[in-house]
Amino acid sequence: MTASKASDALHLQTLTELARGLAGGEFSSRELTESLLERIDAHQKSLNAFITLTADEALAEADLADKNRATGAGGPLQGLPIVHKDLFCTAGVRTTCGSKILQDFVSPYDATVVARLKSAGAIMLGKTNMDEFAMGSSNETSFFGAVTNPWDQKMSPGGSSGGSAAAVAARLVPAATGTDTGGSIRQPAALTGTVGLKPTYGRVSRFGMVAFASSLDQAGVITRSAEDAALLLNAMAGVDPRDSTSADQPIPDYTATLSDSVKGLRIGVVRQHFDEGLDDECGKTVKTALAALEDAGASLVDVDLPNIGLSVPTYYVVAPAECSSNLSRFDGVRFGHRADNVKDLFDLYCRSRGEGFGAEVKRRIMTGTYVLSAGYYDAYYLKAQKVRQLISRDFNQAFEKVDVIAGPTAPTTAFRLGEKTDDPITMYLNDIYTIGANLAGLPGISVPCGLVKKMPVGLQLVGPAFAEASLLSCAHQYQQITDWHRQAPEAFR
Ligand code: GLN
Repeated sequence: MTASKASDALHLQTLTELARGLAGGEFSSRELTESLLERIDAHQKSLNAFITLTADEALAEADLADKNRATGAGGPLQGLPIVHKDLFCTAGVRTTCGSKILQDFVSPYDATVVARLKSAGAIMLGKTNMDEFAMGSSNETSFFGAVTNPWDQKMSPGGSSGGSAAAVAARLVPAATGTDTGGSIRQPAALTGTVGLKPTYGRVSRFGMVAFASSLDQAGVITRSAEDAALLLNAMAGVDPRDSTSADQPIPDYTATLSDSVKGLRIGVVRQHFDEGLDDECGKTVKTALAALEDAGASLVDVDLPNIGLSVPTYYVVAPAECSSNLSRFDGVRFGHRADNVKDLFDLYCRSRGEGFGAEVKRRIMTGTYVLSAGYYDAYYLKAQKVRQLISRDFNQAFEKVDVIAGPTAPTTAFRLGEKTDDPITMYLNDIYTIGANLAGLPGISVPCGLVKKMPVGLQLVGPAFAEASLLSCAHQYQQITDWHRQAPEAFR
């Protein structure tokens, strides 16, 4: 096992270690930025983790950060590199959402997440590849091509934040933003051996995120340690007047409680999470992780989520319904791709959308339009909303008995690129353990907890609303007693 430390090559250091190095004057932000840009350049062709690189802007910002540091000015993330999933709007830099329809779209403003990280001092190196409109679990629906998994480049890195996960796993960058509507931060994190944090719905502003399913979408981060996720959440969290669903809740210092012990922590183990859908070896690996937490003083308690088995079908009614409405704005008129030589307005709509959207996005729009249509609304959409309430109630009842729920993040390790593309249902089932938290609006984190046939496995922790601090401290404590998060894929050390 290779444990990286602050004296390691810059690309192996975590954000927290890099922050210390910068503060101690061991290297400059320019040196750090240059060295990571070189690494990105060397691996972009084979990983395809990025859609756009912003090297010149990043170097200019790095110089400014170095100057600020010399005068004592600047925020907590000053001079630290980050990359953004390409659905966060970035002023002046294109935001494609992995789609042909937005391939030349340049937003006039920054998403709140981008603006907050920027004002804390972080430097954006580029925008990462993703499934088109965040619809997918393998990064294969991207108009810009699939991303490869750094652990085995025949495999998918997961999705939809596959580019962010691959970039962090390959040690191209220490941290990336992502979004999670049904698992798109946690599942790719699990499949690439990285940490993925999806905060409580409303904890982080959605302003400037291209919308997929507004009642489920949430911004978060992919990092290599829980400590780094805490550092970033400090900068991102908080109410935003431009997002009415953002929560006006106090923001704790998430780094301050990382050293809280797990002694006495009640960890719920959900029976339904270990049934036949789970790969045997992955199940054993997750159980070993749970035993390690138990040895550290936590207690394991069996809990039941009786309706969790309905989460995938429920999600595939709610998410397409919301997406069909959200994506109606891409009409060839206001922004994005516009078809040439159209006959009339109707032709403009049809052809612009027909040419601009890929197959999975069209499938979702059609399903969503169907479940919302008169006559089917009650049978599908309304029914799904009711089941969603039941799932939410199950979680609330479980949290009367336990502090966190722990289990597998995904049913298997990474699968082969191309393996599931012809079978949407099998692809959808990859999120079987993650979707529940989105339907109930709860925070979740995936941390690497072992390898099966040399491929990473993720341990998922889900907590009550706004319990990010306890998820992060539990994950951090786990990372104090294990070093799975320190292991880099062989070709990227
Ligand atoms: N894989 C799920 C989907 O395809 C979740 C995607 C997400 O979380 N953005 O919808």
